[in-house]
This record gives sequence, C-alpha cells and structure tokens, in this order.
Amino acid sequence: MNHDTAYAIFTGYAGLLGLLFGSFMNVCISRMPEDRSVVSPRSACPSCGTPIAAYDNIPVLSWFVLRGRCRHCKASISPLYPLVEAQFAVLAALLFRRVVPDLGNLDTAHLVAFTWYFWLCFAVVAMAFIDLRHSIIPDEFSIYSVPVGVGGATLLGFLGYEGAPTWQQSLVGASAGGLGIAAIIGLYWVITRQEGMGWGDAKLMALFGAYFGPFPALFAVLMIGSTTGALVGGSAALAQIIARPPEWPSAPGLSTPARLGQYLASVRRRFQVAVPFGPFLGMGAVAWLFFGQSLAMRWSGAIGRVADVLR
Ligand SMILES: [Zn+2]
Repeated sequence: MNHDTAYAIFTGYAGLLGLLFGSFMNVCISRMPEDRSVVSPRSACPSCGTPIAAYDNIPVLSWFVLRGRCRHCKASISPLYPLVEAQFAVLAALLFRRVVPDLGNLDTAHLVAFTWYFWLCFAVVAMAFIDLRHSIIPDEFSIYSVPVGVGGATLLGFLGYEGAPTWQQSLVGASAGGLGIAAIIGLYWVITRQEGMGWGDAKLMALFGAYFGPFPALFAVLMIGSTTGALVGGSAALAQIIARPPEWPSAPGLSTPARLGQYLASVRRRFQVAVPFGPFLGMGAVAWLFFGQSLAMRWSGAIGRVADVLR
C-alpha cells in the first residue's frame, strides 16, 4: 500500500470517530441543558417516545434512509442531527491531518495529542450549539475540562511533543483566561452596571488557556471571538432595524430634541440583540488550533523584522 492511501485510510478512521462522537454530541446537546443523563436511557423519538433501534441510529445514514421521519409515528426529525454528525466528522478528519501531518510521525505522542485536541473540539462544538439554543455553557465543556487541558499538556511534555504548551504555561494560561475575563466582567459592570460577558465565558477562556497557554493565544481567541461576534450581532441588529424601523415619535406637544431622544432610544433598543458569546469564542479557539501556530510564527517573524529595521 502506498503512503498516500494509508494516510487517506487513517484520515477516514478519524472521520468515522468524529461521526460516532457527533452522534453522542447530539445526545449531549439535547439532554445536558435539562440536566438529564447522557448515558441512559437509550435515545427515543421526542414525539412518540418509542426507543430508537440501533439500526435506525446510524449517524447521518439513518436520517436519509428514514427520510427525516420517525419510523413509528412519522414525526419529522430535525436535519440538525445529521448536520451535527457530518460537521464533526469533517472536523475530526481535519484535526487528524493537522496533528499528524505525516504518517512518519504517527507515534504515541501524536496519538495522545490527537485525543487531547479531539476532546477540546468536542467540548467547543457541543458548547457552541448548547449556548446558541439555551444561552448556557455547561461546566463539563468549560471549567471541568481544565484539568484535562493541564493534565494533557503535562503528559505531552513527558512524551516530548512539541505542539503543546508546557504544564507551567498551561496552568498560567488557565488562570489568565479565567481571571482575565472575570476582571473584564467586573470592570464592565462597574462602568455600565450591566453584565456583558457571562461567567460561562470566563470558564471557557480558562479552558482555552489550559490548552494553548496564555500569550498570544488567549489574546487572539478573544480578538477573533469579539470581532466575529460584533459583526454577526451588528448585522442581526441591522436586520431588525430594517425589518421593523423605529417610528418617529408622533405624540403632540413634544419638542424636536425630545422626539429625537425617543427615536434614538428605540434605535438603541433594536441594537440590544442578545447574541451568545460562547460560540464566537469557540470559533476563535478552533481557528487558533488550526492556524494559530503558523500565524504566531508569522507575527513573531514580522515583529523580528520591525526590530531589525529599528536597530
Ligand atoms: Zn416517533
């Protein structure tokens, strides 16, 4: 067997693993916000309650075979289920190619690294769906996974893996992520008396710090997260304003400045669309995982060149 075929087969295995865990992710997404066990009972149709047989529970495939309907009551099953499975399969395959760029370095250290980052991806994607739907970030996918982050960094250090922070960097990163966001929340509250980010975001940044170390990763994740979040939130607010333009106040006896004030207040209310921040931070973390190291090297290269010019 030639090398490319072998690599393709390994990538396929990683995708298959992603498919299976994508199926488990669906269970987490629907049960964890309700505090139900993700282990038992078996999955059942949400409409008629009939347990789903193993042969009807094959990721992606079953949804197409059943044409998106329950076998018993024919209630429609959301296409989100196969979509979650398919996207996680793709992500897992890409992760394998990212962590193991060549079969020549397929050793214990790289397999441990793949498993370690696999858990991060699982936590991030599951968290993103749950936060989008329920505005909650489960502790399992944030603060409870911090020991996994620090432990993995420690183990990978022993194994001599190069692509992870040292255990010291991991510890500092977790503290900096958690405490940094806590400080931002506190400062924002002192100034505006409102909660901007939630504590879930602080716990999430602690996890990213544990996996990536403090700098420049946390800074980059926060920048990517807030930029994309602001873009999406801003467009959502703009869409609301276009769909339901605020009316010019018509009450009699109002002065023009008062009318203008009322008008601007209703524009501002349209802008206060609640967009959960977790999914955007998660996007930043995945972007950092896939492109961060090369970005960081380019940045440090650029900084070095600037330093050379100044010298
Ligand atoms: Zn049913």
